Amino acid sequence: MRNLETDLIHKGEQYNETRAITPPIYQTATYIAGETIDEQLADATSTKSPFFYHRHGNPTNSQLGEILAKLEKTEDALLLATGMAAISTAVLTCVVAGDHVIAQHAHYAAAQVFFKEFLPAYGIEVTHVDQTDIANFEAAVQKNTKLIYVETPSNPNLEITDLEAVAQLARNNKIFTIVDNTFASPINQTPRDFGIDAVVHSATKYLGGHSDLTAGAICGSKEFIHQAWRKSLLLGASLSPMDSWLLLRGLKTLTLRIKQINENALELATWLEGQQGIKKVTYAGLPSHSQHALAKKQMHGFTGMLTIELSGDSEQIGYSNAQTVLKQLEIFANAVSLGGVESLVTHPASLWNSVQQREAGVKPLFPLGLLRISVGIEHIDDLKADLKQALLSLI
Ligand SMILES: *Cc1c(COP(=O)(O)O)cnc(C)c1O
Repeated sequence: MRNLETDLIHKGEQYNETRAITPPIYQTATYIAGETIDEQLADATSTKSPFFYHRHGNPTNSQLGEILAKLEKTEDALLLATGMAAISTAVLTCVVAGDHVIAQHAHYAAAQVFFKEFLPAYGIEVTHVDQTDIANFEAAVQKNTKLIYVETPSNPNLEITDLEAVAQLARNNKIFTIVDNTFASPINQTPRDFGIDAVVHSATKYLGGHSDLTAGAICGSKEFIHQAWRKSLLLGASLSPMDSWLLLRGLKTLTLRIKQINENALELATWLEGQQGIKKVTYAGLPSHSQHALAKKQMHGFTGMLTIELSGDSEQIGYSNAQTVLKQLEIFANAVSLGGVESLVTHPASLWNSVQQREAGVKPLFPLGLLRISVGIEHIDDLKADLKQALLSLI
């Protein structure tokens, strides 16, 4: 078996039937049928068929499937148009009306709406638990629980879920488990190692790595991917040939990028803890993170995701400080998304408090002075200098 770095460059090359080193972009909706009607029927019905019709599959998507399966240590993987397509397709492969799902109290915002509003509207019951304590998952198990869905580290609070404990609990109760591994990336965390059944990704983020595509992936057993593929034929969110090609290219440098991002983020987080104007730094790699020991147990590196809470005697001052810092920053762009080579910063309270606060009177989840940072691969000295000048403008 070859090593990961080699497989990221070469795995699945057999799907490139040309002599080009870089595979072509298969910009086609359909493919000429095989010699016989039987061959065509086989193409029509085989899982992820690369040469039938684009919604069924595409050669680049098949190649990516091999690479993603290798990354997540699963038998197979299915590529889709977005991370949300991967999440919704994977979940709807597991549950039907009358079933029950355990999810976390904090998820990526659109996933949260999917669990809070979409599933219940189709007769699927969802219990949301504080994921920092396994006892909460245990207490939520019902007779009809079919799925435990977790995300670790979670967006944007960077809370950690104990993967081994969740997998154990699920196994004991014959419940399927899915992890959103987007924030960690498979370089830093492979949930299969702890007995988790399937993994989903927004490949828009670290896997693509250049903020130039949207894509999603489901990684799991051959049987689960077959079932998810059948659902995907109906839900229809196939990954476009161009985005597929860009993702294949982005993945070649995944290990290099993640290594640099891990290093930059750890150094930046450590440095930020000592800076004036900052009340709190949250980063899974810092000993000050309340779940640092668990993060160390299940992660090899701590990713580029961190948050800073700016000082301020009141929420309002925190808010105006956040606005000032966002305006002053020159390298860090104020943009949603994450996981690219470039550093980005967002203000969770403006983006997500409204989504999370649908039920009136609920306390805002995110302080007004909180900023989420996705650290890129720029030179660390330039990143520090940029944050330093922005923080100095507060004083
Ligand atoms: C971005 C993101 C998603 C959704 O991915 P899209 O590609 O935008 O659909 C899901 N989960 C997490 C953790 C994310 O960061």
